[in-house]
Amino acid sequence: PSATIGLTGLAVMGRNLARNIARHGHAIAVHNRTTARTTSLLEEHGDEGADSGGRLIGTESLEEFVAAIEKPRVVLVMVKAGEGTDAVIDDLVPLLEEGDIVVDCGNAHFTDTIRRTEQLEAHGLHFVGTGVSGGEEGALNGPSIMVGGSDRAYERLGPIMESIAAHVDGEPCCAHVGEGGAGHFVKMVHNGIEYADMQLIAESYDLLRSVAGLEPAAIADVFEEWNKGELESFLIQMTADVLRHTDAGGHPFVDVVQDAAEQKGTGRWTVQSALDLGVPITGIAEATFARSLSGHTAQRAAARTMFSTSPDEQRVEVDRDTFVDQVRAALYASKVVAYAQGFDQVAAGAEEHGWDVDLGQVAKIWRDGCIIRARFLGRITEAYTDEPDLTTLLTTPFFAEAVQDGVDAWREVVATAARAGVPVPAFGSSLSYFDGLRRERLPAALIQALRDNFGAHTYQRVDRPGTFHTAWAGDLSESEQ
Ligand code: NDP
Repeated sequence: PSATIGLTGLAVMGRNLARNIARHGHAIAVHNRTTARTTSLLEEHGDEGADSGGRLIGTESLEEFVAAIEKPRVVLVMVKAGEGTDAVIDDLVPLLEEGDIVVDCGNAHFTDTIRRTEQLEAHGLHFVGTGVSGGEEGALNGPSIMVGGSDRAYERLGPIMESIAAHVDGEPCCAHVGEGGAGHFVKMVHNGIEYADMQLIAESYDLLRSVAGLEPAAIADVFEEWNKGELESFLIQMTADVLRHTDAGGHPFVDVVQDAAEQKGTGRWTVQSALDLGVPITGIAEATFARSLSGHTAQRAAARTMFSTSPDEQRVEVDRDTFVDQVRAALYASKVVAYAQGFDQVAAGAEEHGWDVDLGQVAKIWRDGCIIRARFLGRITEAYTDEPDLTTLLTTPFFAEAVQDGVDAWREVVATAARAGVPVPAFGSSLSYFDGLRRERLPAALIQALRDNFGAHTYQRVDRPGTFHTAWAGDLSESEQ
């Protein structure tokens, strides 16, 4: 065998990942169900890695592919998530030997990863669910890599993945985040946070355009400026670039794109998992629902007809410069909330499934390579390093100050949006979440009382321990349960 690693599945992601691996000095066997993809990869990039001692080794059959890899084998699978992954695993398993490592780099649901890990362990094989973020560009030039599976598998796989990952200050954006399905769980929450981040950016754009009256190119300037400060991130820069872009007819690009956002499902998975875990990830949930709402074109058309308003009705006078700055503060505060919620979910998932996840390390490997890469992730790492068992990121000095400083602007923006009829589900829910956490007393007391009334669900009192029920249908006496 001449390859140190193998990769099957040579569509956009697999192809680029294989080239990246070869460039880093590894001999990699490549395979694809349809051989034409392997042939074209070799034709176009056959000399990839020549400078560094790496190379691509094309194979046609799965047997030839497996035979080309040194034992214990590391086989990366980069195929269509779901049935594609199961089909490839079923074909691979009979060809592999005890101790070999199968690495699923696709966007698998973490529960599938847990199932596949058990399935492969029964054959004496390691299964490593690995989240790879950064799209096709990241796969080629350095993604963020979230590796699950066993310590043993990481010993063999880790050095290769760390070498091809993005790096910040010499440190790889790749880590063994936890056992079993942890890699795909962390990747799922990453994508959920990405949904929230994009929704917050979209709401900011809408406000700057509809309330402050700025044109897309001027909003691009604002985002460019924001990117010099605490909001500095890949998505903020990308927003400036997209808003500046015009189509062939000279129209702002953002105006010619249909306003119905699609989704491939990772946001929905994040919300479903959060519901199961009981973690209020309101920012991610609202972002996911906002995409759904945008896609309900028939309902939107009906509502527009019934409830249309003249532009004058919604005009709200604002001082433009002040408002732009208030939106910046609201965006930052809401973003802090969305990330705090996402990290809560990772912590809850780790606890539920018994994974040992270092949250500071998760933030660290998101600093580059992935879609949510951002300057402020370094602050999250610091927060968890200072206090690994942190109750919430919101109360750490850096983030507490950020939220406190921005809270007046945040309220002003949400109130202005409501008056202007501009929907801000993510801004609004993040502010409510913050107020919910900090409130002395919540109306949950009334909810408990109602639950006891209609369903004898009992309640606890503020003034003494115990569980109580009131005889609502009888003499209203209280009894301890
Ligand atoms: P696709 O998801 O479009 O999958 C196409 C690849 O899967 C082809 O190589 C195809 O082989 C193979 N495949 C599908 N079904 C089977 C099967 N039953 N048996 C064998 N091979 C099969 O490719 P992408 O490159 O876009 O994505 C690969 C993975 O990476 C996916 O899981 C995706 O979710 C994930 N991902 C994608 C990102 C992106 O930006 N695109 C970002 C991060 C992760 P064939 O050529 O023979 O049809």
